[in-house]
Formats: sequence, C-alpha cells, structure tokens
Amino acid sequence: MFYHIRKTTIFTRPNQHKAKFNLMEHPLSLFKHCPECGSVHFEIHNEKSKRCADCGFVYYFNSSAATVALIMNERNELLVCRRAKAPAKGTLDLPGGFIDMFETGEEGITREVKEETGMEVEKAEYLFSLPNIYVYSGFTVHTLDLFFRCTVSDTLHYKAMDDAADVFFLPLKDICTEDFGLSSIRKGLKIFLGKADEY
Ligand SMILES: [Zn+2]
Repeated sequence: MFYHIRKTTIFTRPNQHKAKFNLMEHPLSLFKHCPECGSVHFEIHNEKSKRCADCGFVYYFNSSAATVALIMNERNELLVCRRAKAPAKGTLDLPGGFIDMFETGEEGITREVKEETGMEVEKAEYLFSLPNIYVYSGFTVHTLDLFFRCTVSDTLHYKAMDDAADVFFLPLKDICTEDFGLSSIRKGLKIFLGKADEY
C-alpha cells in the first residue's frame, strides 16, 4: 500500500541539507496485523503510525538513533572501514551503528568503535546529525545518524571485526565520498572535510 505523505522538508541545520519526501511507502506498511490483538484491521492512523480498529492499539514509527565516528591520526588521515554486510556491502564506511536502549550517544559510539576496530575511544565530541534511510531485511529503516569526532588512545593498533571487513587510515586528500555506500555518510564526510581544517 502506498500512502501520500504531505510534502515535508526536513532541516538538519537552518537552510542546509534539505531532504524532501513527496511520495513514499508508509513506514509500517509491512506490519499487517495488530501486535496487541492480532486483528487484520491495523490501519493507517497518520503518516507515521497505525491504529487497530478493533482494540484501539496505536503504534508510532520513529527514527532510530545511530552513531558515526570520525577518527583522525597524527598524519591527517581518517579511519575508514569496508562494510562486511548488507546494505551497501563492500563499500567504504565509517565506524558506527545503532544506539542500544538506555545507552547515550557517547557510550554507543565508544562501544561500536571498540567492536569494529578494537580501538579505545577516550573522548567523543558531538558534531552534527543527518537523517538516513536504508533497506534492511526488506524493511526500510529510518535513522538519525549522530556524527562524533572521536579521540582514541592508540591510533597504531586496530583490526577489522564485527561489521567491518577491513579497517585502515586514508589521507584526507585521497577520500572520495562516492566510494562510501550510505548517503548520510557521504553527506557527513562532505561536511566534515569542509571543516576538517578547523580541527
Ligand atoms: Zn488490536
């Protein structure tokens, strides 16, 4: 089922980075039954929720918070990963992932960097955020990606683990944003590279 969402403009910063969604599938279109009573009358309530016509249960779909790490070494190089899993398997990426329940953004990015690279984050400084959409297991996942400038205790020792097939430092001048498979990462890198001289 397709559902018209009113023309919406999302501003992540004033007058910048506009993303327009004119026509898209309802985010809960895959959810056919009421999770409370099992009724098939689980109907669209508004652009981001469904309501059960039988028992009144309402479920709202909201963006999931995710984190992205920007880690530089002493040679003005940025740590990048190669994705081991779908979506965008095989393309370049930055360390990061979904924030767990009850976790702060700083705790989430510290955990993800450890899981994917083995590195210890000493300081995580929030920079900016970007909305992202990708398809996982046939389901369109909406996220809000929080970008952190991370300082690690040791930039010499790391290894690819978990969701990363490879991890390596890349000189800033050699970074080609088109090599990164996820759109919010490409946009975030452009913002970061434009500001990288300030750090
Ligand atoms: Zn119900």
